Amino acid sequence: MVDRLVNSEANARRIAMVENCFGSSGQPLAEQGRVLVGEGVLTKMCRKKPKARQFFLFNDILVYGNIVINKKKYNKQHVIPLEEVKLESLKDEGQYRNGWLIRTASKSFAVYAATATEKEEWMAHIEKCIEDLLRKSGKQPPSEHAAVWVPDNEAAICMHCKKTQFTVLNRRHHCRKCGSVVCGPCSSKRFVLRTQSEKPLRVCLQCYDELNREKARSNQGQTLGPGAAKAGGDGAGSGGDSSQDDDSDDDDERPVAEDKHDEGFTSYNAVKNGYSSRVTSV
Ligand SMILES: [Zn+2]
Ligand SMILES: [Zn+2]
Repeated sequence: MVDRLVNSEANARRIAMVENCFGSSGQPLAEQGRVLVGEGVLTKMCRKKPKARQFFLFNDILVYGNIVINKKKYNKQHVIPLEEVKLESLKDEGQYRNGWLIRTASKSFAVYAATATEKEEWMAHIEKCIEDLLRKSGKQPPSEHAAVWVPDNEAAICMHCKKTQFTVLNRRHHCRKCGSVVCGPCSSKRFVLRTQSEKPLRVCLQCYDELNREKARSNQGQTLGPGAAKAGGDGAGSGGDSSQDDDSDDDDERPVAEDKHDEGFTSYNAVKNGYSSRVTSV
């Protein structure tokens, strides 16, 4: 009993510390039953390049942010409910090692740990949390996940027409359905992807055609009642507005002293005597 009390006090202290590090840039994190399971730095594949991000694994959410001052100050907080998360291990490829995908309905991205052991620990702990959550809530994991965006520098030319060379003027765009890097004319269409947004989103011409075929099929399959035509959602039309194309991630911010973090600390720290001891000790 005493142990548990001490642990819960320690847990509350840890959570308060995380809140403190994000300051006013983050949301309150203390909540009944929430436990900090582990924390560490992972390299997150962003639109322009891989970047170090601080991650905090709680038993119900995954929180990450930019490192302003290591272990003291973070900003650009993102909170992902674990119930919506699906992990997918990635094979090592060149410099990209110890990685896996974090996929949700609205956003998917790749992260990389410093070592294979850390990757194993991170993945096992996250999976365990997800499993516990779904068992408790009786919910099903989501079946649809947002595409992982192909990083800009992996496409010198449009992945759809295979012609357009990207330049300062010929800007890169991302298809919200498949994640391809495509040119403006090859992504002039919009489509409502309900798991991501109520607003029509940029899609490549290939996905646009496929989505419309799917929509036609599902409309045929239903008795056409009022509103049936709306079901698939469409947002055709040519999109002159590419300004919102840059907004979709935390990637376009100025780099904030993030190269100072790499002075040899082990990346993943599972919380000792906390929830994680139960995670690992089976
Ligand atoms: Zn193109
Ligand atoms: Zn596409």
